[in-house]
Amino acid sequence: MTSVLNERNETTTLSIEEMQVRQHLHGLPPLTARLEPWMIATLRDRSLFNWVDQFSSPLNLVNPDALSENVAALRRQADDRGVNLRVFFARKSNKCLALVDAARSIGIGIDTASHAEIDQTLARGVEPSGMICTAAIKDDAMIDRCLATEPPIVIAVDNFDELDLVVQRSQACGKKAKIALRLGGFHHGDQKLPTRFGFDVDRDLHVLDRLAELPMEVCGLHFHLDGYDAKQRVSAMRTCLKCWDRLQQLGHHPTFIDMGGGFPISYLPSGDEWATFWSTLRSALLNQSEPITYDNHGIGLSVHDGQIIGRPNSYPYHQSPVFDQWFADILDAPMEDVTMEGEDVTLADAIRRRGIELRCEPGRSLVDGCGMTVARVEFRKQSANGDWLIGLAMNRTQCRTTSDDFLVDPILVPQDADRPMDDSASMEGYLVGAYCMESELLSLRRLRFPSGVQRGDLVIFPNTAGYFMHFLESRSHQFPLAQNLVLDSADSTFRLDDIDR
Ligand SMILES: *Cc1c(COP(=O)(O)O)cnc(C)c1O
Repeated sequence: MTSVLNERNETTTLSIEEMQVRQHLHGLPPLTARLEPWMIATLRDRSLFNWVDQFSSPLNLVNPDALSENVAALRRQADDRGVNLRVFFARKSNKCLALVDAARSIGIGIDTASHAEIDQTLARGVEPSGMICTAAIKDDAMIDRCLATEPPIVIAVDNFDELDLVVQRSQACGKKAKIALRLGGFHHGDQKLPTRFGFDVDRDLHVLDRLAELPMEVCGLHFHLDGYDAKQRVSAMRTCLKCWDRLQQLGHHPTFIDMGGGFPISYLPSGDEWATFWSTLRSALLNQSEPITYDNHGIGLSVHDGQIIGRPNSYPYHQSPVFDQWFADILDAPMEDVTMEGEDVTLADAIRRRGIELRCEPGRSLVDGCGMTVARVEFRKQSANGDWLIGLAMNRTQCRTTSDDFLVDPILVPQDADRPMDDSASMEGYLVGAYCMESELLSLRRLRFPSGVQRGDLVIFPNTAGYFMHFLESRSHQFPLAQNLVLDSADSTFRLDDIDR
């Protein structure tokens, strides 16, 4: 057993099994991803090789079980404060239908962002009242789809043209729409938060005065902020509460405020490893030590006049507080409350006293612990400058978000189960993928393979269910998309997700 610190600075221990699973690959310096027990069990199961043979490389493995634990953690914080919480899973973070089924079975809602997501979610038997449409672009057909269900699906209306379209379509269909007003441009401290989304809270709030004449029911207010700042959410909630009170005065009967997603998580239990990675990268960029990234890539940082400039262009793989604790901090934030003059209340109090249903729409954080991506090693070669390159049968859109890199250490499962830990076979190099570009690196990080790496070995990217698998996956060069196997915990077997049928 070995000890590491987790995000709450509690010591956790790695089992012998987990250490064995990790021993064939680590980054320089290491970034040791958290692994769930099912991941370790699956990585020790030789069937992994048969599945990749049968379903091709790369292959996504999804286990929805953690979803319900994640939801339960949020519910506990809300329950402790008497807040009526309704969680919606943001489907765009992962397309597997097994996750929709899991969400339905635990009674949470679904946040949909496209016509296909709406159709599929309804086809899985999710109640329209448990859905919201937050698509960034909504055409007539999508609005009609939302209006056609009974009750209509709540549409998060983003702008005046969209509002007019909803009016037009509901008149054409003879049905009253249910809407939530999406707000944006909140003030936080002395800053106005920039966004492309929502009615601007400074310029556009006269929209509130127009709503009463329109053939629609104003069910709630909605926002979704970029980034992971809890205090910005508190500022947005403060403005929403004021708008809520205004809607009430105007005779509307809203029921919810929806605070969107962006609940932060840590892929990496150790804050020390994270800090060491960035300090080592800085020193490498300043040529004070060996490069730890391909071509000394800065992952958002660069050197200007001998100084490091820029900001890391990556998800904060380690952060604190995360998820339910982050949510609790928002609920406990002090809030001035017009209804209780002079009294100090918390945001939770202000929500509870108004009888508001608090909604949220996490994506990434709800599928934390739900997936991994497996790819087969096809070659090893040396580049023109002598770096070892390890070619995998996958491309970089199959494990990538909008930021520069997947930063935690992948795992190597040797084809030969008894491959000895032989120092003389040790290699260092970079993972490269199938798109025909010089920049096609699957990870920018320099990786060490203490027992070597060979054709037919498998490389596994851990905890990829949130965005990494599907958000950017593309079919350039006409490669087929990766298939998705879902673990059925009832009989511990993996089967193809219905999204691939
Ligand atoms: C993407 C998105 C979410 C989910 O965000 P996460 O960061 O995955 O929690 C929720 N709501 C809206 C409107 C979104 O666009």
